[in-house]
Formats: sequence, C-alpha cells, structure tokens
Amino acid sequence: MDRLTGLEPAGVFEIFDVICDIPHGSGNTSAMLDFLKRFAEERELRYKADEAGNIVIYKDGSKGKETLDPVILQGHMDMVCAKRPDVSHDFLTEPLDLTIEGDDLYAEGTSLGGDDGIAVAFMLAILDDESLVHPPIEAVFTNDEEIGLLGATSLDVSLLKGRRMINIDSENEGIFTCGCAGGSSVDFIMPIKRVRMKGLPVLLSISGLTGGHSGVKIIDNLPNANKLMARLLHEVDDAAVCCLESVYGGEKDNAIPTDATAHIVIDEIDFHTVSKAVEKFEKDIRREYRGIDEGIRVRVEKGTVHKINVLDAESQENVLFFLLHAPYGVRKMSGLVRGLVETSSNLGVVRTGDAEFACTVSVRSSVGSGRRALERELYSLGAKCGGSCRTSGEYPEWEYRPQSALRDTMVSVYTSMYGEEPVIDVIHAGLECGLFAQRIRGFDAVSIGPDVRDVHTPNEKLSISSTRRVWEFLVALLEKLR
Ligand SMILES: [Zn+2]
Repeated sequence: MDRLTGLEPAGVFEIFDVICDIPHGSGNTSAMLDFLKRFAEERELRYKADEAGNIVIYKDGSKGKETLDPVILQGHMDMVCAKRPDVSHDFLTEPLDLTIEGDDLYAEGTSLGGDDGIAVAFMLAILDDESLVHPPIEAVFTNDEEIGLLGATSLDVSLLKGRRMINIDSENEGIFTCGCAGGSSVDFIMPIKRVRMKGLPVLLSISGLTGGHSGVKIIDNLPNANKLMARLLHEVDDAAVCCLESVYGGEKDNAIPTDATAHIVIDEIDFHTVSKAVEKFEKDIRREYRGIDEGIRVRVEKGTVHKINVLDAESQENVLFFLLHAPYGVRKMSGLVRGLVETSSNLGVVRTGDAEFACTVSVRSSVGSGRRALERELYSLGAKCGGSCRTSGEYPEWEYRPQSALRDTMVSVYTSMYGEEPVIDVIHAGLECGLFAQRIRGFDAVSIGPDVRDVHTPNEKLSISSTRRVWEFLVALLEKLR
C-alpha cells in the first residue's frame, strides 16, 4: 500500500495499488470478488454477483442524466501469473512488488496484471467519484477471462439494460478495437492400422521456423512446420518406397508450429536417394520463404535396420492426404476493414499414437458463417480420410458495425482532445466482447485501454502517462454520452 502515492490520477492508482495486494490470478479470484462486493456495499451501490464469479455494480446516472440509456463498462478481474525463473513469488498469497521507473509501472519479477487490473481500477474510480457526469453505469467485472473467457461465457446478460459497452481490455492507447474474430478448435482423430516390417528407420525433422500466435501472425504468411512436413513426406514418398511410423509437430492449436518430426522406414539402399530429396526440399523451401522466414532447417538421420511397426498402406495414404489438404493460413481478407484477416486456420498440433492419428486445427473468423464453412471443410476432409472431427472451445465473433453511435462519439471526443483521430481496428483474435455481442441485441461496443507492454510476461509494464490520458478520455467521454 501507498507505493503509488503521488501518481495521477490518484483515485485510479490508489485503487490499483490495493488490487495488487489482493492475489487474483485466474482461478483464484474469490478475494477479489469479496473486495468488489465490499467496495459496492460501502458506497451503497447495488450489485449482483453470479455463480461464475462475475459481478455487476450499478450506479445511477448523475444529476440530469438519470434517464439516459445505461453504459456498460467492462473488464476482467483475473490476471495471468507469470514470473521470472529466478523469482520466488507465491501468486496465491503474496502481494505484487510494485516498482516505478520513469513512466513505467511494473511488478518486480512478475507480471503486473495491468491486463486487466487497470480496467478494474478505472471502473472502481468512476464508481467512487461523485463529481463525474455520466449516464447510468453498469460496471461488469468478469472472472477468468485468461483461461478461456469463462466468466463472460456464463454471465447472465439479463442483468444488463445497457446496449452500449466500453470494454477496457486493449493495450494500445489511441487504438479503438471495434470487432474481433470468433474461433474454435477442430480435433481430428483417425484410427490407424499397423504392419510389421524390416527396414532402415529414418528421422526427418523440420525446425528453425519463427512461429507465433496464430491470430496475430497468420497475416505474415509464415511457414507452418506441419504443412512443410506434409510436403516433405510426399516428396520422399515420390523418391523411394517409404513407410510412415509416426509424425509429430506443434505444441498448441493457436501457435504456428515451429518444429515437426517424422519417423519413416525405407529400404537401406534408398537412403542416398532420400537424403538427396530432403536436401532439395530444404533448398526449395528456403528459396520460397526468403524474406519471410530465413532459418528453416530440414534434416535427415538414419538409424540401424530392424523390425518396426509402421502404418499400413491405407492408413499412411489417409494421413498424408489429410496433412496435405488440411487448410492453413489466411483464407479471406475482410472487405470492410482494410488489412484485416477475416478467416484463417492453423494446423497447430499433429500426433501419432499406436492406433490413432490426431490433429488439432484452430479456426478463426470475424464472420460466423466463414468460420463454419472452414469447419465444414475439415469435417468433410476428415470423413474422407476415414476419421472424424469434433469442435471445441468455441468463442463467438464480435462483428464490426459499419454504423456505431458509440464509436462516433468516442472518435469525436478523442479527436477534440488530441487533435488527431484514433485508429479504428478489428483484431483476428478473441475478446470477451464477442460473448456480449452474441447475446445482446443491438450491441454497440468499443474496446480501449492504456499502453501496456509485454502482457502475460514478467516484463509487463503499464505506462503511467498513458493511464492518465485514458482516464481523462473516459471522464470526458462519459460526460458526452447522450
Ligand atoms: Zn486481458
């Protein structure tokens, strides 16, 4: 406590300081929820908490504004707990070690939880300040956003009368996010049969790719190690008789895979031919990805001849067919928002077991029908290969509104304050806004926030001056809302 004394806006940083004393990692937010309830009770503000750990706190409109349509303010109360390997910090019990350095506020050795603690601080400061001019406020504090938008998914939106919402979970001042992608994971599983054969085991590996978040980086046309492996296996299969034992690649469905390996079995006399094919493939790929991804390595290593259980001919054909045709990359760019990837997919994870082959593909689109069409392609491809698909982890898109009264007001307030227009953006990743958009008719929202760098890491830093400006903007905006 009192570590942030002297920082402006004092009301916001005072509350942020208190929040940082309350452990609130995802899945561990009950103390935070209690604090929010107490905060409301002490100010005689009506509130409603639900089973999922969300809470809505209501505040009447200021004098003369009582009958305006309410505005929803929203942020999530949980944070990602990340710490440096050399730091011993117990996120379940210990307060964060706040430090100020120039314009940066951070927690020594750990993530700060500016994502999304600063939203909590903004909302509470607004609820606390009797001098502000504003319409009726419905402040929504959602739970467990960082582990799958859990709170927002369960939130009962009948608790809300508002149709317009300011989400405070963006990390770049001056950028107004006005839409996001929906997504899902499609899991493909296919039974495989094996036969025993004697031959030379060969390890094929692809590595050194850049990879990255499949929502953010898909626009860069980066290579995907699983897709490269699909091509390599076909090349090798063309060069010599090759039997597949296993193929692996990637760690997470939403990360572009950087590595893939395959174990194959060939006739010993074909090793030279196979090596040549691998060498040529590496050359070709490196040429294809010049200027995009320069570090791609393709390797071949042989073992010693013995008996191995490999896939039978039909299973192998199906695996290679699926890998070759599973969609990866940008499918469609938006016609409404320049530079926005509308629909994309990522063949993130490939695994081979004794009796089954499995893949996970992450599918995203800011248009629901676009996502469903891509899911259908996967289902159809999967069935053709003798397997089946299942969709999980669905989150809805928040479609960009060509007309938005809230956005217009926000742009005009911002422009008159700073003499330049904000950037209007739509992102190719999920936000809680999608879950509100799906269930609130006429939903009109914008997502904003102060500059926060390196979120979800121990290097997370919140800009103090940006926090002040975004606060001033929020205060001015609430006053302007009709
Ligand atoms: Zn967040």
